[in-house]
Amino acid sequence: MKLLTIIGARPQFIKAAAVSRAIAKTPGLQEILVHTGQHFDANMSDVFFEEMDIPRPDHQLAIHSLSHGAMTGRMLEEIEKILMQERPDCVLVYGDTNSTLAGALAAKKLHLKVAHVEAGLRSFNLRMPEEVNRILTDRISDFLFCPTDAAVHNLDLEGFANFPCRIEQVGDVMQDAALFYLPKSEQQSAILDTLGLQKGEFFLATIHRAENTDDPLRLAQIVASLNRLAQESPVVFPVHPRTRARLAEQGLSASVRTLDPVGYLDMIQLIAGSRMVITDSGGLQKEAYFFQKYCLTLRPETEWIELVTHGFNRLSEPDPEQVMEAVHYFSRLSFPDASGLYGGGRASEAICNILSEAG
Ligand code: UDP
Repeated sequence: MKLLTIIGARPQFIKAAAVSRAIAKTPGLQEILVHTGQHFDANMSDVFFEEMDIPRPDHQLAIHSLSHGAMTGRMLEEIEKILMQERPDCVLVYGDTNSTLAGALAAKKLHLKVAHVEAGLRSFNLRMPEEVNRILTDRISDFLFCPTDAAVHNLDLEGFANFPCRIEQVGDVMQDAALFYLPKSEQQSAILDTLGLQKGEFFLATIHRAENTDDPLRLAQIVASLNRLAQESPVVFPVHPRTRARLAEQGLSASVRTLDPVGYLDMIQLIAGSRMVITDSGGLQKEAYFFQKYCLTLRPETEWIELVTHGFNRLSEPDPEQVMEAVHYFSRLSFPDASGLYGGGRASEAICNILSEAG
C-alpha cells in the first residue's frame, strides 16, 4: 500500500514522527511525505525533522501566512497536483489544521482513501477553526483512528455507524512519541541547566489558540495570570509566533522567562521537570499527563475530556484569581501513578497493522 502523508504544523510533525517510524517497519507499506509549509520557521518545523529523524519530505509546499480560506484553497490546489502525480492508495492526515482538511478534501475528490489520525475529537465549539477542520475531515475519511473512547462515542452520536467507514480506537500516537523520545531527551537536552531551573520548581506555560491570542481581553488576563504565578515560582513560557505577534500588537509583555519555541527534546525536559503545566494546547494537556503533571487548561472546553473527568486537568478562565485558586488546589495533591488513558504507546503500530491488512 502506497501511503501519502500530509503534514504542515508542529503537532503534526510530532505525530508523524511516531507513525512514519512504524510505517517504515511495516512490510507492505510505503510512504510519501508532503509538507504543506503551514509552519515554516526553523524552530516550528526544521528542528523536529532533525531531532526526531523524520524522513525528508518528498514534496515541500510553502503555503503559509494566509487567511484560513486562502491557505486551505492554495493547499487544496497544490495537494491535488501531487496526488494526481503520486496516485497513492491512501492519504494519511493528522489532527485538525488547514493542512488536514485540504489533504482529506483533495484526496476524497480524487476517490482516494483517506485515513484520519486523531479522529472523533470534538470541542463542540464551532467558532474554533480546528473544530470545523476535524468535523469535515472525519466525515469524508475511510479510516477513523480514534485516540480515546470519548472520540469513538462522539462519532457514534453523529451517526457514523451509518457511513461506509472504519472506526478504530487505537490509542494516542502522541504517547508513542513521548515514550520513544524520552530517553533521547534525557541524553541530549540540557535546557534545565541552561535556564538554571530546578526540577519541580517552575511552571511551564504555552498559549497559542486563536480564542486566547486574538481576544485582547483574554490575552491581557493571561499575561496578568502568568505574572501572578511568577510571584510564586518561575514561569517558563516558550512563545508561539502568533502569540508573540499579538502580544507585541497589544503592547503586552509577561514578566516571566519567555523563550522562542523549543524543540521536542527540550520540551519533554520542560514538561517532565515542571511543577505544573498551564496551557491551551491540545498536545500539551496529554503530555502533562504522560509525565505525571497536573494541567490547567485556559479554555472553556477541551477535546481531552477524560483528563478532566479523572481530575488530572482543570479548565479555567484566564482570570488571575481563578488561575491561582486552581494552581493552589493542584499543589495540595500528589499525582497518582496513572498512565492508562491513551493506549500505552502502541497506537502507531496498531494504525500500520490495520492499514497493511486493508491494503
Ligand atoms: N511543543 C514543542 N515546543 C514548544 C511548544 C510545544 O515541541 O515550544 C510541542 C508540544 O510538546 C506538543 C506539540 O508541540 O507535542 C503541541 O503543539 P501545539 O501546542 O502547537 O498544538 P496543539 O497540540 O494544540 O494542536
